[in-house]
Amino acid sequence: MTAQIIDGKAFAASVREKVAGHVTRLKEENGITPGLAVVLVGEDPASQVYVRSKGKQTVEVGMNSFEHKLDADTSEADLLALVEQLNNDPEVHGILVQLPLPKHLNEDLVINSIAPEKDVDGFHISNVGLLGTGQKSMVPCTPLGSLMMLRDHHGSLSGLDAVVIGRSNIVGKPMAQLLLGDSCTVTIAHSRTKDLADVVRRADIVVAAVGRPEMVPGDWIKPGATVIDVGINRIERDGKNVLVGDVDFASAKDVAGAITPVPGGVGPMTIACLLANTVTACCRANGLSEPEGLTA
Ligand code: NDP
Repeated sequence: MTAQIIDGKAFAASVREKVAGHVTRLKEENGITPGLAVVLVGEDPASQVYVRSKGKQTVEVGMNSFEHKLDADTSEADLLALVEQLNNDPEVHGILVQLPLPKHLNEDLVINSIAPEKDVDGFHISNVGLLGTGQKSMVPCTPLGSLMMLRDHHGSLSGLDAVVIGRSNIVGKPMAQLLLGDSCTVTIAHSRTKDLADVVRRADIVVAAVGRPEMVPGDWIKPGATVIDVGINRIERDGKNVLVGDVDFASAKDVAGAITPVPGGVGPMTIACLLANTVTACCRANGLSEPEGLTA
């Protein structure tokens, strides 16, 4: 069997197109332009690349982009004051504080100071609780993008056996909650899981979010299963610096029914879902019906 390759780049483009359509309607019919504020503290090179890319894509779909770049030694009080200002700004519908923050800043405190309805990353404790209890929330972008791809491929996920490898707050746990919400039977595996191979072999859906290059070989995959590879790992191969996932793509693609590549799978969906969350937040803030197909 050769797996269908799930093209995350094309899928993300279709999500952005939907977002842009909603933005146009909001502008024309309601006179509202959704706005996303991104706060970057310090000069972490990877974070700078992400923030630039987020700003560019925000403008491309017709939304307002507000970038706030603060020095690495910014005090917690100053950062909290900026978040408060953005919380109260009616032109700002989504707020994202780029992580990681410099060590002297308390990430939990800062994230939980964002108004939950503007928390487009979905990391605020209120959104975590709402998602966990099956209520309307802002959903973390990477798991939301993964869910969209799974729904698109399968239609209904009801009754499928899903394994999520990784239990982080930003990927593993919310992913498991979303799959449970779609009535999968969910197993969460982690570094202490006994016989991971056996656990993975039983799954119709495998979501790998570990951060270990190619740790899931093809012979762990149940024939025909759908594999969502969230991992992004930089390795040296044949003298070149390359990106690989947590799944060994070369062997897994011969067994799986469908698989996301790295790069070009889950990665592009993350920013697309950030834009989707911002439109959703804008609609909710203005008492308008939510865009279909862009939320969990
Ligand atoms: P974390 O490091 O926060 O979590 C990794 C998880 O993997 C932990 O729960 C850990 O278990 C588990 N784990 C580690 N080793 C093993 C093992 N040998 N067997 C089974 N489980 C193991 O990572 P993140 O969730 O933040 O990210 C995971 C990956 O996804 C990374 O490669 C990251 O770069 C990528 N990522 C990609 C995004 C995208 O846009 N595509 C966005 C976010 C992340 P334990 O809890 O027991 O330690």
